[in-house]
Amino acid sequence: MSCELCDAQELTRWYYQDDFCFVAECESCSVPMVVLREHRREVSAAEREVLFGHLEQVAEEFFGDKEFFFDGLRRQIPDHFHAHARPRPVMWWGPGGV
Ligand SMILES: [Zn+2]
Ligand SMILES: [Zn+2]
Repeated sequence: MSCELCDAQELTRWYYQDDFCFVAECESCSVPMVVLREHRREVSAAEREVLFGHLEQVAEEFFGDKEFFFDGLRRQIPDHFHAHARPRPVMWWGPGGV
């Protein structure tokens, strides 16, 4: 079974990457999301801190003065850890996001 996040070529714009994770623009939602390099569902608290640290840096630049929040809900690919940074208010994307 192929995984869209393991096969990350379909993602649009890359903001950050290292051996542990990367932050790219989500093709469906057009917002930054952080993706673990490994295909697994959960991460430790320490790993979570690193992941969201990278996402926050990118999101602060991406959204500028606008408010954003971290959306850890995984709708389409629940088995591979990733999280979106989304703007507030929550309005303009549909349920089809990754
Ligand atoms: Zn995967
Ligand atoms: Zn998305």
